[in-house]
Amino acid sequence: MKKALIIAVHPDDETIGCGGTMLKLKEMGWEVYWLMLTAAFPGQAWSDEIIKKRREEIVEVAKIYGVSATLNLKYPAATLDQQSLGEVIGKISGILADVKPDWVFLPNRSDVHSDHRVGFEAAWAACKWFRAPSISKVLMFECVSETEYAPPFGEGAFIPTFTSILPAIYRGSWKSWIGINRNSSRPRFHEAEKLWRRLPVTGGAEWALIMPKHS
Ligand SMILES: [Zn+2]
Repeated sequence: MKKALIIAVHPDDETIGCGGTMLKLKEMGWEVYWLMLTAAFPGQAWSDEIIKKRREEIVEVAKIYGVSATLNLKYPAATLDQQSLGEVIGKISGILADVKPDWVFLPNRSDVHSDHRVGFEAAWAACKWFRAPSISKVLMFECVSETEYAPPFGEGAFIPTFTSILPAIYRGSWKSWIGINRNSSRPRFHEAEKLWRRLPVTGGAEWALIMPKHS
């Protein structure tokens, strides 16, 4: 059975960036694995109540997507750029060695959110062929995260090179999932929805960039 590993820097990136794709892969008979790099901890900006709710939501979301495993490196959110890059690469490499995915989905390397940029850098390094020989394709998804803060320069633009038809059922599921997701008042969710509306055929979730193929 084919396996896909979705690397979400924070819980919710998987849905904003490739929720429809996760549903589609699952229906195609793939095993889908969900790796989060960070988690919310007390002492950061979140109350104990929000942290508890978030953990419950992760369990609920995992059921909706039917993931084979929910994995989390549990770095404190918004601190990835303060961690040892080598250590993060090593931990992701360990997950890749255990899961042995065929396809891996990475966050956008040009995202203005530092966690996303560092997450990409670490994950991309971990996907090198000599570290993760199971991988046949690495794709990068656009996660409409703090996109509204991005400076208007072309070099950071996400340029999709991979599309596939995302039937309405997946787009509908993805949209309703966004609806039940937390923080729906945040601008990024509205940005994600606008993106989704602009792409009626493919859906934002399917836009991903094929990186050099290993094999
Ligand atoms: Zn994120």
